[in-house]
Amino acid sequence: MLFNYRNWALVALAIVSLSSIVAHRLGVFSLHLDLLAQGNHSDWYPTNIGGVMSDFSEEQDAIFLTCKVEDIRSNNYCSFSIRFSPFSTFEDNALGKNLNNYKNLDLDIDYEAPQPEPMIKISFRNYDQAYVKYDDYTSFKYNSLILNPNLKETTNNLSMQSFSVEQWWINQHNVPSIQSGLDFSNITYIEILPNSMPKVGDYQITINRMVLIGEAITEQTLLLANMIIWLVVSLMFSIQRNWSLKRLAKTDTLTGVFNRRGLSDWVNFKFSSFYNKPDLTLFYIDLDDFKRINDGHGHNIGDEVLLNFSQSIQESVKSFQYDLHYKFARLAGDEFALVVSDLSSENIGVLAKHLLAEIARPILVSTTSIRLNGSIGISCSSKNAISFEEMLHQADVAMYYAKNQGKNQYKKFDAAIAQDNLEREAIATKLSKAIDNNAFRLVFMPIYECASKKMAKVEVLLRHCSEELTGIGPDVFIPIAEEFHLINKIDLWVIEHTFIVIDQHKAQLDLDNFRFCINVSARELSHEHFNSQFSALLLKYAIEPEWIEIEITETSLVDVTERSIASLASIRDMGIDVALDDFGTGYTAFNQLVNYPVNCLKIDKSFVDDLSESNKTKATMVKAILSIAESFDLCVVAEGIETQEQFDFLLDNNCDYAQGYFLSKPIPFERLLELLHSD
Ligand code: C2E
Ligand code: CA
Ligand code: CA
Repeated sequence: MLFNYRNWALVALAIVSLSSIVAHRLGVFSLHLDLLAQGNHSDWYPTNIGGVMSDFSEEQDAIFLTCKVEDIRSNNYCSFSIRFSPFSTFEDNALGKNLNNYKNLDLDIDYEAPQPEPMIKISFRNYDQAYVKYDDYTSFKYNSLILNPNLKETTNNLSMQSFSVEQWWINQHNVPSIQSGLDFSNITYIEILPNSMPKVGDYQITINRMVLIGEAITEQTLLLANMIIWLVVSLMFSIQRNWSLKRLAKTDTLTGVFNRRGLSDWVNFKFSSFYNKPDLTLFYIDLDDFKRINDGHGHNIGDEVLLNFSQSIQESVKSFQYDLHYKFARLAGDEFALVVSDLSSENIGVLAKHLLAEIARPILVSTTSIRLNGSIGISCSSKNAISFEEMLHQADVAMYYAKNQGKNQYKKFDAAIAQDNLEREAIATKLSKAIDNNAFRLVFMPIYECASKKMAKVEVLLRHCSEELTGIGPDVFIPIAEEFHLINKIDLWVIEHTFIVIDQHKAQLDLDNFRFCINVSARELSHEHFNSQFSALLLKYAIEPEWIEIEITETSLVDVTERSIASLASIRDMGIDVALDDFGTGYTAFNQLVNYPVNCLKIDKSFVDDLSESNKTKATMVKAILSIAESFDLCVVAEGIETQEQFDFLLDNNCDYAQGYFLSKPIPFERLLELLHSD
């Protein structure tokens, strides 16, 4: 905004500055002190000493002083004094008037004396304790000017600077140079007197006007004051601007709470405190499936939800314990962190549950009520403190475990997690090396058509050939690859190498009646380039879509985003079948199956284990899945068949396909070819 309050303030300041200068020029700040006006002085009177008689009268605003010299003596003295402080205060601390602001003396005096070029003297007597040398009388500083008042043109307007300090006074009292300058700061009285009276006769002084003229503030001072104000104001603005920029850099614009940097600064500041380092507990809150809200309701609603969420969490922390010292921050999209000072260990779990309950409370936005779920990872600092980054990392790791336990959970980082995480990190490092070294191979697990007992498809399964990873199977390393973002390369490697094998053996495979089922991580589906990479590989190895089936796990589909559903749909539109793997382990409501672009369900091994007519629960479940699949026109593969009994049950209940150690274990490609040709 062009005219924010800062700009308005500057405009106002400019107007005030300009008008102060104009006002100065117009004389608003000028000072006039009419010394003849009653009220501007406390007293006035003539003084005469020696062979002089003085006569004093006031008439029509003019003062007449006549000094009659009858006898020429050495102590002849005659003057007229205008006092600012009463005579009685002389001996104490004479309180005069500060005339420093007066620059000129406007004077209209007539003087007649029996001598050529008669001169009068005007003295401004300044009192200061510092001048006191011998007696009170000499404690006055003699700022004097001697002039011929009848020379009007030069005497009308006398500069106060044309006064000088009387030399006899400096000499007589040995006044140091520092005190010998003009001083009008405490004038107790002004004296007007003939400068000399060498002859007998009348010395007549008529004072018509005696006005001090000055200004309350000089133009230079005013300009200087303006400049200082401008400087101070711009300095204040720049400090404030810096400060608000700093604040902005630490604040999340949507919710107004700290962002990651703000929280990091706060935590690290706490850790750097020398005394009384607090114990901090960090709750890392990740909203589950938040993308679904953005995708389903639009980003505006998503933003509103985040804003309401951030407010309600803070309220709930206050309601948990009113004197809790805490900071709340939004770290990224749907990730938040709450850092609490000195929370007792018993209260950590209680607060985590309190937060989960708050997260689960429906949030009202516009006309919709939105339900959230969240996972919380917790880490604690110890007295010998860890850094913010370390705390955040630990809480993040703990949150990963919370999520894996199922949604809506909390988990505190502990030694076991630390150990397990170290091992996972080590595996991820070795896996990454294996990817670089191409240290993988494929095995193929036959899938048989139950009715004909003919091999109809194979599931492509990955094996590593890294010695470092000995004993670690895909059930362990695939989730780690997903966690450490290595899965993209792995899945593409599997797809490409499956295509290479097919391409090299097209002649030996009856591809019109056979299918290669490839496992693809659901994370891969939301990857923006996956579809184009996949189509490019199909083209490169001249693979027909009908030869390929994609397996995607049901649990991973629970978190699906619009993008991954669209991605699946476009894969299916290419003519590639999609199977829902590990079916039954997720939470898919059967009626939701229509929303998934899938052709096939793979009943999870856990349903097939102990499957027999006598095991009622499992038998009922499997029968239900089979009949649902039939009504949705989906084919069914049963996995993990290890016994004849299981196979017979599935055959009797019209299951389409079967896969399991009972039929065949995963085998190398050469063995697969032998099996296919021995049929
Ligand atoms: P999955 O997709 O459910 O694969 C089936 C797993 O069950 C395979 O284990 C297979 O050997 C095993 N299995 C099948 N029938 C039986 C049986 O009768 N008895 C027993 N005990 N096991 C049986 P595997 O090869 O260890 O794979 C484990 C998981 O690793 C797979 O589960 C899949 O989720 C993942 N995976 C394997 N290869 C890949 C791959 O190339 N890409 C991706 N993304 N994931 C893969
Ligand atoms: Ca599979
Ligand atoms: Ca499976």
